[in-house]
Amino acid sequence: MFNKEKIVSRFMEYVKISSESGSEGDFHRKLIVDLDELGAEVSVDEAGSKAGSDANNIYAYLKGNMETEPLIFSCHMDTVKPGKNIEPIIEEGLIKSKGDTILGSDDKSGITAIVEAVKLIKEQNPDHGPIQMIFTISEEVGLRGAKNLDYDRIIGKRCYVIDSSGPVGKIIVQAPAHNKIVSEITGKPAHAGIAPEKGISAIMAGADAISTMNLLRIDEETTANIGTFEAVGAANIVSPAARIVGEVRSLDKDKIDLQTSHLVVCLRKAAD
Ligand SMILES: [Zn+2]
Repeated sequence: MFNKEKIVSRFMEYVKISSESGSEGDFHRKLIVDLDELGAEVSVDEAGSKAGSDANNIYAYLKGNMETEPLIFSCHMDTVKPGKNIEPIIEEGLIKSKGDTILGSDDKSGITAIVEAVKLIKEQNPDHGPIQMIFTISEEVGLRGAKNLDYDRIIGKRCYVIDSSGPVGKIIVQAPAHNKIVSEITGKPAHAGIAPEKGISAIMAGADAISTMNLLRIDEETTANIGTFEAVGAANIVSPAARIVGEVRSLDKDKIDLQTSHLVVCLRKAAD
Protein backbone atom coordinates (compact mmCIF):
# COMPACT_ATOMS: atom_id res chain seq x y z
CA MET A 1 0.00 0.00 0.00
CA PHE A 2 0.95 3.65 -0.10
CA ASN A 3 3.51 4.77 2.41
CA LYS A 4 2.36 8.07 3.90
CA GLU A 5 5.84 9.09 5.05
CA LYS A 6 7.33 8.54 1.60
CA ILE A 7 4.54 10.56 -0.01
CA VAL A 8 5.01 13.43 2.44
CA SER A 9 8.79 13.44 2.05
CA ARG A 10 8.59 13.42 -1.75
CA PHE A 11 6.07 16.25 -1.66
CA MET A 12 8.26 18.29 0.71
CA GLU A 13 11.28 17.67 -1.54
CA TYR A 14 9.36 18.75 -4.66
CA VAL A 15 7.94 22.00 -3.28
CA LYS A 16 11.40 23.06 -2.06
CA ILE A 17 12.59 23.15 -5.70
CA SER A 18 11.39 26.47 -7.11
CA SER A 19 9.50 26.26 -10.40
CA GLU A 20 7.70 29.53 -11.01
CA SER A 21 6.22 29.69 -14.53
CA GLY A 22 9.05 30.12 -17.04
CA SER A 23 11.69 28.93 -14.56
CA GLU A 24 10.84 25.25 -14.23
CA GLY A 25 14.34 24.09 -15.25
CA ASP A 26 15.60 22.84 -11.87
CA PHE A 27 12.41 20.96 -11.08
CA HIS A 28 12.20 19.63 -14.64
CA ARG A 29 15.70 18.10 -14.26
CA LYS A 30 14.84 16.60 -10.87
CA LEU A 31 11.65 15.02 -12.22
CA ILE A 32 13.50 13.46 -15.16
CA VAL A 33 15.95 11.84 -12.72
CA ASP A 34 13.08 10.46 -10.62
CA LEU A 35 11.19 9.16 -13.66
CA ASP A 36 14.37 7.51 -14.95
CA GLU A 37 14.77 5.82 -11.58
CA LEU A 38 11.25 4.44 -11.89
CA GLY A 39 12.33 2.76 -15.10
CA ALA A 40 10.10 4.88 -17.31
CA GLU A 41 11.13 5.81 -20.86
CA VAL A 42 11.53 9.57 -20.63
CA SER A 43 11.60 12.14 -23.42
CA VAL A 44 11.13 15.89 -23.68
CA ASP A 45 9.84 18.13 -26.46
CA GLU A 46 10.89 21.62 -27.48
CA ALA A 47 7.96 23.56 -26.04
CA GLY A 48 10.16 25.73 -23.83
CA SER A 49 11.41 27.97 -26.61
CA LYS A 50 7.83 28.64 -27.74
CA ALA A 51 6.43 29.03 -24.23
CA GLY A 52 9.20 31.26 -22.87
CA SER A 53 10.45 28.70 -20.36
CA ASP A 54 13.85 27.24 -19.43
CA ALA A 55 12.26 23.76 -19.40
CA ASN A 56 10.23 21.56 -21.73
CA ASN A 57 7.23 19.25 -21.43
CA ILE A 58 8.18 15.79 -20.15
CA TYR A 59 6.72 12.53 -21.49
CA ALA A 60 7.34 9.33 -19.51
CA TYR A 61 6.17 5.92 -20.65
CA LEU A 62 5.71 2.76 -18.67
CA LYS A 63 5.07 -0.52 -20.53
CA GLY A 64 2.01 -2.50 -19.56
CA ASN A 65 1.86 -6.21 -18.87
CA MET A 66 -1.58 -6.63 -20.42
CA GLU A 67 -3.36 -5.41 -23.53
CA THR A 68 -5.65 -2.57 -22.52
CA GLU A 69 -6.23 0.98 -23.55
CA PRO A 70 -3.31 3.21 -22.47
CA LEU A 71 -3.97 5.60 -19.60
CA ILE A 72 -2.36 9.00 -19.34
CA PHE A 73 -1.81 11.03 -16.18
CA SER A 74 -0.81 14.67 -16.39
CA CYS A 75 0.17 17.58 -14.15
CA HIS A 76 1.85 20.94 -14.63
CA MET A 77 5.32 21.58 -13.22
CA ASP A 78 5.10 25.34 -12.75
CA THR A 79 3.72 27.32 -9.82
CA VAL A 80 2.44 30.86 -9.38
CA LYS A 81 4.47 33.50 -7.52
CA PRO A 82 5.88 33.97 -4.92
CA GLY A 83 7.28 30.47 -5.32
CA LYS A 84 11.01 30.86 -4.68
CA ASN A 85 12.77 29.30 -1.67
CA ILE A 86 9.61 27.66 -0.36
CA GLU A 87 9.97 26.28 3.17
CA PRO A 88 7.20 23.78 3.85
CA ILE A 89 6.27 23.12 7.48
CA ILE A 90 3.97 20.55 9.06
CA GLU A 91 1.57 21.91 11.64
CA GLU A 92 -1.15 19.86 13.28
CA GLY A 93 -1.09 17.34 10.47
CA LEU A 94 -1.27 19.95 7.72
CA ILE A 95 1.53 20.86 5.32
CA LYS A 96 1.80 24.64 4.92
CA SER A 97 4.30 27.17 3.64
CA LYS A 98 6.23 29.10 6.25
CA GLY A 99 4.07 32.05 5.27
CA ASP A 100 6.07 34.27 2.94
CA THR A 101 5.58 32.13 -0.19
CA ILE A 102 2.97 29.89 -1.71
CA LEU A 103 3.21 26.19 -0.82
CA GLY A 104 3.25 24.92 -4.40
CA SER A 105 0.81 22.07 -3.83
CA ASP A 106 -0.72 23.23 -7.12
CA ASP A 107 0.40 21.09 -8.85
CA LYS A 108 3.14 19.26 -6.93
CA SER A 109 0.62 17.32 -4.87
CA GLY A 110 -0.61 15.88 -8.17
CA ILE A 111 2.91 15.15 -9.39
CA THR A 112 3.71 13.43 -6.09
CA ALA A 113 0.57 11.31 -6.36
CA ILE A 114 1.40 10.20 -9.90
CA VAL A 115 5.07 9.42 -9.20
CA GLU A 116 4.28 7.51 -5.99
CA ALA A 117 1.47 5.58 -7.68
CA VAL A 118 3.72 4.55 -10.55
CA LYS A 119 6.47 3.62 -8.09
CA LEU A 120 4.00 1.32 -6.33
CA ILE A 121 2.99 -0.21 -9.66
CA LYS A 122 6.67 -0.88 -10.44
CA GLU A 123 7.21 -2.48 -7.04
CA GLN A 124 4.11 -4.66 -6.99
CA ASN A 125 3.60 -5.19 -10.73
CA PRO A 126 -0.19 -5.67 -10.73
CA ASP A 127 -1.92 -6.22 -14.09
CA HIS A 128 -1.94 -2.92 -15.90
CA GLY A 129 -1.95 -1.50 -19.39
CA PRO A 130 0.49 1.05 -20.82
CA ILE A 131 0.81 4.19 -18.71
CA GLN A 132 2.03 7.56 -19.85
CA MET A 133 2.87 10.52 -17.64
CA ILE A 134 2.95 14.01 -19.12
CA PHE A 135 4.29 16.94 -17.13
CA THR A 136 3.79 20.37 -18.67
CA ILE A 137 5.41 23.77 -18.28
CA SER A 138 3.86 27.21 -17.77
CA GLU A 139 0.24 26.26 -17.13
CA GLU A 140 -0.39 29.15 -14.77
CA VAL A 141 0.42 31.76 -17.43
CA GLY A 142 -2.00 30.46 -20.07
CA LEU A 143 -1.40 26.71 -20.51
CA ARG A 144 1.61 27.45 -22.68
CA GLY A 145 3.12 23.99 -22.27
CA ALA A 146 -0.14 22.20 -23.02
CA LYS A 147 -0.72 24.41 -26.06
CA ASN A 148 2.68 23.37 -27.43
CA LEU A 149 2.43 19.64 -26.65
CA ASP A 150 3.90 17.25 -29.19
CA TYR A 151 0.80 15.20 -29.95
CA ASP A 152 2.84 12.61 -31.86
CA ARG A 153 4.31 11.51 -28.52
CA ILE A 154 0.95 10.96 -26.85
CA ILE A 155 0.03 7.29 -26.75
CA GLY A 156 -3.61 7.26 -25.70
CA LYS A 157 -6.95 9.03 -25.73
CA ARG A 158 -7.88 8.94 -22.07
CA CYS A 159 -6.05 11.32 -19.75
CA TYR A 160 -6.50 12.24 -16.11
CA VAL A 161 -5.18 15.70 -15.29
CA ILE A 162 -4.56 15.82 -11.56
CA ASP A 163 -5.06 19.54 -10.98
CA SER A 164 -8.17 20.58 -9.11
CA SER A 165 -9.28 21.41 -5.60
CA GLY A 166 -12.31 19.89 -3.94
CA PRO A 167 -13.12 16.50 -2.46
CA VAL A 168 -10.99 13.50 -3.43
CA GLY A 169 -12.67 11.69 -6.29
CA LYS A 170 -14.24 14.75 -7.90
CA ILE A 171 -13.78 14.71 -11.67
CA ILE A 172 -14.22 17.74 -13.91
CA VAL A 173 -15.25 16.69 -17.39
CA GLN A 174 -15.62 20.04 -19.09
CA ALA A 175 -14.80 23.70 -18.62
CA PRO A 176 -15.90 26.80 -20.48
CA ALA A 177 -13.81 28.78 -22.93
CA HIS A 178 -13.40 32.37 -21.85
CA ASN A 179 -13.09 35.62 -23.81
CA LYS A 180 -12.23 38.90 -22.12
CA ILE A 181 -13.34 42.11 -23.78
CA VAL A 182 -11.59 45.40 -23.06
CA SER A 183 -13.12 48.45 -24.72
CA GLU A 184 -11.93 52.04 -24.60
CA ILE A 185 -14.36 54.66 -25.83
CA THR A 186 -12.94 58.03 -26.83
CA GLY A 187 -15.30 61.01 -26.62
CA LYS A 188 -14.68 64.70 -27.06
CA PRO A 189 -14.38 66.98 -24.05
CA ALA A 190 -16.27 70.27 -23.88
CA HIS A 191 -17.52 72.54 -21.11
CA ALA A 192 -20.87 71.08 -20.17
CA GLY A 193 -22.29 74.40 -19.02
CA ILE A 194 -21.08 76.63 -21.84
CA ALA A 195 -20.88 74.51 -25.00
CA PRO A 196 -22.09 70.95 -24.40
CA GLU A 197 -23.02 70.60 -28.10
CA LYS A 198 -19.31 70.72 -28.93
CA GLY A 199 -18.64 67.59 -26.89
CA ILE A 200 -19.19 63.88 -27.37
CA SER A 201 -19.84 61.97 -24.15
CA ALA A 202 -17.92 58.73 -23.83
CA ILE A 203 -20.09 57.84 -20.83
CA MET A 204 -23.27 58.17 -22.86
CA ALA A 205 -21.81 56.08 -25.69
CA GLY A 206 -20.75 53.41 -23.21
CA ALA A 207 -24.14 53.42 -21.53
CA ASP A 208 -25.83 53.12 -24.95
CA ALA A 209 -23.63 50.14 -25.80
CA ILE A 210 -24.33 48.31 -22.54
CA SER A 211 -28.07 48.98 -22.65
CA THR A 212 -28.30 47.18 -25.99
CA MET A 213 -26.30 44.14 -24.86
CA ASN A 214 -27.80 40.78 -24.05
CA LEU A 215 -25.95 39.93 -20.80
CA LEU A 216 -25.65 37.55 -17.82
CA ARG A 217 -27.25 34.12 -18.46
CA ILE A 218 -27.44 33.74 -22.23
CA ASP A 219 -28.27 30.02 -22.28
CA GLU A 220 -27.41 26.97 -20.20
CA GLU A 221 -23.89 26.87 -21.66
CA THR A 222 -23.17 30.56 -22.08
CA THR A 223 -22.78 33.61 -19.84
CA ALA A 224 -21.73 37.21 -20.42
CA ASN A 225 -20.96 40.05 -18.05
CA ILE A 226 -19.75 43.63 -17.92
CA GLY A 227 -17.63 43.93 -14.78
CA THR A 228 -16.03 47.34 -15.16
CA PHE A 229 -17.30 50.71 -16.39
CA GLU A 230 -14.75 53.42 -15.61
CA ALA A 231 -14.98 57.07 -16.55
CA VAL A 232 -13.55 59.55 -14.12
CA GLY A 233 -13.95 63.25 -14.81
CA ALA A 234 -15.28 66.59 -13.61
CA ALA A 235 -19.02 67.11 -13.41
CA ASN A 236 -18.84 70.13 -15.73
CA ILE A 237 -16.87 68.40 -18.53
CA VAL A 238 -18.46 66.24 -21.21
CA SER A 239 -16.83 62.87 -20.61
CA PRO A 240 -13.84 62.34 -22.93
CA ALA A 241 -13.04 58.71 -22.13
CA ALA A 242 -14.64 55.55 -20.79
CA ARG A 243 -13.33 52.03 -20.32
CA ILE A 244 -15.54 48.98 -20.29
CA VAL A 245 -14.32 45.48 -19.42
CA GLY A 246 -16.42 42.37 -19.77
CA GLU A 247 -16.26 38.66 -20.44
CA VAL A 248 -18.05 35.85 -22.22
CA ARG A 249 -17.90 32.19 -21.25
CA SER A 250 -19.34 29.19 -23.02
CA LEU A 251 -18.92 25.45 -23.24
CA ASP A 252 -19.62 25.77 -26.97
CA LYS A 253 -17.11 27.30 -29.37
CA ASP A 254 -19.71 28.70 -31.81
CA LYS A 255 -21.74 30.24 -28.99
CA ILE A 256 -18.77 32.02 -27.45
CA ASP A 257 -17.86 33.46 -30.86
CA LEU A 258 -21.44 34.58 -31.46
CA GLN A 259 -21.90 36.20 -28.04
CA THR A 260 -18.49 37.89 -28.20
CA SER A 261 -19.22 39.42 -31.60
CA HIS A 262 -22.63 40.57 -30.30
CA LEU A 263 -20.90 42.59 -27.54
CA VAL A 264 -18.35 43.97 -29.98
CA VAL A 265 -21.10 45.04 -32.40
CA CYS A 266 -23.01 46.82 -29.57
CA LEU A 267 -19.82 48.68 -28.58
CA ARG A 268 -18.97 49.63 -32.19
CA LYS A 269 -22.50 50.85 -32.99
CA ALA A 270 -22.64 53.02 -29.88
CA ALA A 271 -19.16 54.40 -30.51
CA ASP A 272 -20.05 55.22 -34.13
ZN1 LIG B 1 -2.86 23.87 -11.21
